[in-house]
Amino acid sequence: MTKKQFKAESKRLLEMMINSIYSQKEIFLRELISNASDAIDKIYYKALTDESLSFEKDQYYLKVSADKENRTLAISDTGIGMTKEELEANLGTIAKSGSLAFKNENESKDGHDIIGQFGVGFYSAFMVADEVTVISKALGEDTAYKWGSEGADGYTIEEVEKDTVGTAIILKIKENTEDEKYDEYLEEYRLKSIIKKYSDFIRYPIKMDVTSRKLKEGSENEYEDVQEEQVINSMVPIWRKNKNELSQEDYENFYTEKRYGFDKPLKHIHISVDGAVRYNAILFMPENIPFDYYSKEFEKGLELYSNGVLIMEKCADLLPDYFSFVKGMVDSEDLSLNISREILQHDKQLKLIAKNINKKIKSELQSLLRDDREKYEVFYKSFGRQLKYGVYSDFGSNKDVLQDLLMFYSSIEKKLVTLDEYVTRMPEDQKYIYYASGESYERIEKLPQTEVVAEKGYEILYFTEDIDEFAIRMLMNYKEKEFKSVSSGDLGFEAEENKDSTASEENENKELFDHMKNVLAGKVKDVRVSKRLRSHPVCFATDGEVSIEMEKILSAMPD
Ligand code: ADP
Ligand code: MG
Repeated sequence: MTKKQFKAESKRLLEMMINSIYSQKEIFLRELISNASDAIDKIYYKALTDESLSFEKDQYYLKVSADKENRTLAISDTGIGMTKEELEANLGTIAKSGSLAFKNENESKDGHDIIGQFGVGFYSAFMVADEVTVISKALGEDTAYKWGSEGADGYTIEEVEKDTVGTAIILKIKENTEDEKYDEYLEEYRLKSIIKKYSDFIRYPIKMDVTSRKLKEGSENEYEDVQEEQVINSMVPIWRKNKNELSQEDYENFYTEKRYGFDKPLKHIHISVDGAVRYNAILFMPENIPFDYYSKEFEKGLELYSNGVLIMEKCADLLPDYFSFVKGMVDSEDLSLNISREILQHDKQLKLIAKNINKKIKSELQSLLRDDREKYEVFYKSFGRQLKYGVYSDFGSNKDVLQDLLMFYSSIEKKLVTLDEYVTRMPEDQKYIYYASGESYERIEKLPQTEVVAEKGYEILYFTEDIDEFAIRMLMNYKEKEFKSVSSGDLGFEAEENKDSTASEENENKELFDHMKNVLAGKVKDVRVSKRLRSHPVCFATDGEVSIEMEKILSAMPD
């Protein structure tokens, strides 16, 4: 048995890699399972063109077995296996990917389900194991081989007995240290949850012997622990299924299973795109505001999968802030991953997907608004504020996306209306979109300033949230109609003669007005006669950019 050496640089590379590529140790299981799945895929692709091979799907599976006593964890598969040469080439050469080579050789044959490409994932095993043994028998070979390594100092290869084609990777799990716990990688529940998290949608069954307490046979109260082989992964990614095959319930179950929220989703969006960038996505509009939504802890983002394997739990780049409430996942085979498969190297494809998704969310919200107003209003009550913040931020550059999704309470309709509805029913002589700000609808209703506008028969939008007025200032106008506060100096419909007559009335009562100005000096800029008042003796008005309500908010802000 000869011991072969890694080249010096490779040795350093291996050490570096083992310790620095992956941010989480648990990733090793994802990598080994992905390799096993690739190995089965290879038989599948071979069988497509090789008539002597048949592929009976139910004969192919992976198995994860932990042995606490011996501190070993084995991941075995019924895949294509490795010859002696392949063991040396693929596991003895860092960054050599047999899978990438396979994909290139079989390009015409739609080999893109294969996950491997970098030739480093296997070594992640050394993050949790101080010894790795690989026993493999390649398809069509009589002899099986055992590859063994204790990490950076090299590997051995020898002949071994193995009946069936396939590979078993056996990890000798490290002992716990003060800083790191490794025992957990021998625990059933932990292994199950890692498999669920990253490898739930691997297309072949991942089996595990799972212990459960069962009533002893023939007994009514005696229990015993029994080991049962279970399939841990759900295998078929629902996003790859045809929309017609899926029911509302399927989507709701997925939402709950994935723990996107504790509520029922208000709406789901299932996207399958086969264009410049290929991806599948299932997105959800939650019904309720997540409890931490307006807190610092809240992280927006969608789950990102590459070929069914979880790459990132919260990919923030996929969602603009104004749609941060959207939950769900994206799966694409076109992502350029970096070697840790954790972060993305070039984000061109990701940007394309994000743009695409953004458009889709907008149009789905618009159709919800059009087709199911009641539901839209439920949504809007939860997340309307976020849309308004979206208009306000980035200097209103999101206005095209968002302005049609906004709603405000209307003085005439006594309910939420869209800007489009407002503008569509404006009388011909009305020049502006009028709004009034206040603490509540009831208080706004009583504002003296609203009376004269209402008297003209014009609709007034009631702004009760701080953000409202700031947001529409960013919009500036909607369908070429400018917004105007009912408390602004010029309402845009008072006749010239009115202005003359107020001037003369002010002159006639000059003494009184001067006196009032004196008394209120420093509090108001001016005191004037108004033709706007109806049932009230007096009201405040502004003549500048900032309305009274905005002034209140601004002066309440810390300096
Ligand atoms: P990658 O999967 O990116 O190619 P890995 O380091 O994970 O890189 O694996 C290196 C290579 O070893 C794979 O490309 C494949 O050729 C081979 N290999 C690893 N695990 C198995 C396995 N279970 N069965 C067959 N071949 C395997
Ligand atoms: Mg791999």
